[in-house]
Amino acid sequence: MGISDIAGELAINGGRPVRSTLLPYGRQSVDDDDIAAVVEVLRSDWLTTGPNVADFERAFATTCGAREAVAVSSGTAALHACMHVLGIGPGDEVIVPPLTFAATANCVLYQGGTPIFADVDAATLLLDPERVEEKVTGRTKAIVAVDYAGQACEYDALREIADRHGLALVADGCHALGGRYQDSAVGSVADLTAFSLHPVKHVTTGEGGVLTTDDRELARRARNFRSHGITSDHRQREAAGSWHYEMVELGYNYRITDFQCALGLSQLQKLRAWVRRRQEIASALSVGISDIPGVEPLAVRADVSHAYHLFVVRLDPVLDRARVVAALRAEGIGSNVHYIPVHLHPYYRARFGTSEGMCPVAEKVYHAILSLPMFPLMTDADVDDVLAALSKVTAGLGG
Ligand SMILES: *Cc1c(COP(=O)(O)O)cnc(C)c1O
Repeated sequence: MGISDIAGELAINGGRPVRSTLLPYGRQSVDDDDIAAVVEVLRSDWLTTGPNVADFERAFATTCGAREAVAVSSGTAALHACMHVLGIGPGDEVIVPPLTFAATANCVLYQGGTPIFADVDAATLLLDPERVEEKVTGRTKAIVAVDYAGQACEYDALREIADRHGLALVADGCHALGGRYQDSAVGSVADLTAFSLHPVKHVTTGEGGVLTTDDRELARRARNFRSHGITSDHRQREAAGSWHYEMVELGYNYRITDFQCALGLSQLQKLRAWVRRRQEIASALSVGISDIPGVEPLAVRADVSHAYHLFVVRLDPVLDRARVVAALRAEGIGSNVHYIPVHLHPYYRARFGTSEGMCPVAEKVYHAILSLPMFPLMTDADVDDVLAALSKVTAGLGG
């Protein structure tokens, strides 16, 4: 459908919508092979703590070019495990960006540590190494870098700061599975990387998460942590015909089931093709958006392969974002906002006295950002609908 055909009255004002069914901003892809893999495990002896967990971990580690992968019950559990194995505790500070999901900072709180917010770069919205440097104190123990939207952070600069101050470098790679930084896959760049397997992410197990690392000792401790801090699992004890076990530290039940891991294994085989399709969609959206005044994609650095979990645009301040969201929805196009800066949530304000002015770049851009539909099963016609609706809505609301 050409733009001239649909220009005219906005659907929110009673005009004809660009499409009749809502295109969501994100959506999982589950096919018959995925379903068959899950059913096979449901008919087997091991619903949890069985062979599929280790198989999935091996495949995931290979995908990321990491020595070890530890599968857990969510991305949040993976982040919590990272903080635990690093020994983060009361009095420790961990530097995090504000423009992320709350779990990035909450994982520090679970351990009794203090998240310290360092602002993002205005062009990429990735953690700004200069702002990180300013926040380092004698109490700083780690940096958690978020590969926002699927673009890897500036790891050379962050590594240099971490090494100079003796800090651990953690990646929240929940947006960036399948992405690359220079010659390395995301998951093999930081000391520890956390991934999410939530349905809106690249590969899903329903709920689930993975931590990757090259450090076998950290991986071993993460495996204990996901199962109460107990040093052997049910299957190992059964194989040894033994009832004896020892709890050596305080852990949680953060285990993932075998049927989830079977789904994860089946999904992982499609990751490369899916990331390629996300990149294709991103480039079509970028080309189309260059003709739409008031809408601009985020900057992408030359030294990354962007995994495009999200396709985020920045709207001109003359456009009221809430009206754009409502008008796009009326045209049949879903969108979302990633994220409300974490330090502005009521819990953080009340507990830490955080407020506006602490991270001016994130606070300002928050009012302008919009995540457009982005998922591998989007068709070229869906992409055209997004562009047509965006063009119509920005012209209609821009005045
Ligand atoms: C999704 C996400 C998480 C949390 O993952 P869950 O699997 O939902 O617990 C953490 N950080 C970021 C940046 C995310 O996008």
